[in-house]
Amino acid sequence: MTWTDVRDSDRARSVAILPVGAVEAHGPHLPIGTDVVIAEAMASSCAEQLAVDGSTVFLLPPLWYTATGFASTFPGTVGVDPRTVTDLIRQISASLEEHQITTLAIANAHLDPAHLGSLRDAVEAPPTGGRIVFLDLTHREVAARLTDEFRTGACHAGRFEGSVVLAETPDLFRREIAEGLAPNPASLATAIREGIDNFTDAGGPDAYFGWPAEATAEEGRETVRTLGTLLAAAIRSAWEEA
Ligand SMILES: [Zn+2]
Repeated sequence: MTWTDVRDSDRARSVAILPVGAVEAHGPHLPIGTDVVIAEAMASSCAEQLAVDGSTVFLLPPLWYTATGFASTFPGTVGVDPRTVTDLIRQISASLEEHQITTLAIANAHLDPAHLGSLRDAVEAPPTGGRIVFLDLTHREVAARLTDEFRTGACHAGRFEGSVVLAETPDLFRREIAEGLAPNPASLATAIREGIDNFTDAGGPDAYFGWPAEATAEEGRETVRTLGTLLAAAIRSAWEEA
């Protein structure tokens, strides 16, 4: 878009969607930028679904950098302090608000607990005049809409995430390697509850969990649609509350 496109748009019922991922190890078969691939797909799907009823949707460039404590020992991972992320998101929201875009929605695909905390902090203390919508995939009622593997908590670089990469950027999925990976049913959700703070101690020495060999593009397309639907519903309900 050009700035004049934004000036001339109807911003009365508008939302800016910020895809949020990470630069983080995702097994030996998926790219380090996997979460950004997923977040951008979720944001685009959400935008399509919101545009149907005439809402104005602005897709922001993604946020690549955030807290990545669980993957920090794996080369290629790049992490920043979670407070930096809270601050940045609040500032983005305030900047949008200066131009009457008062809803910022976060399409988040990265589930590191410190990162999720940074997003919750931003949502709880939005800048004056702005509203931040964040769909937390780890909430029980949200997870209930996602895949069986996701709900087991073995949800990093497995079938769930691999399927979305296959659907969106198939050239980045290393199929021969994925097919040789044994299932790893270790649950990250359980590990987090037990106070573990890294993939290796959580039972993922190669930075993957779940069933990577079972990924399919078809499941990925379905997951993207569902993520878009869930985020669109969260945005609509925030508008209704306002
Ligand atoms: Zn991921």
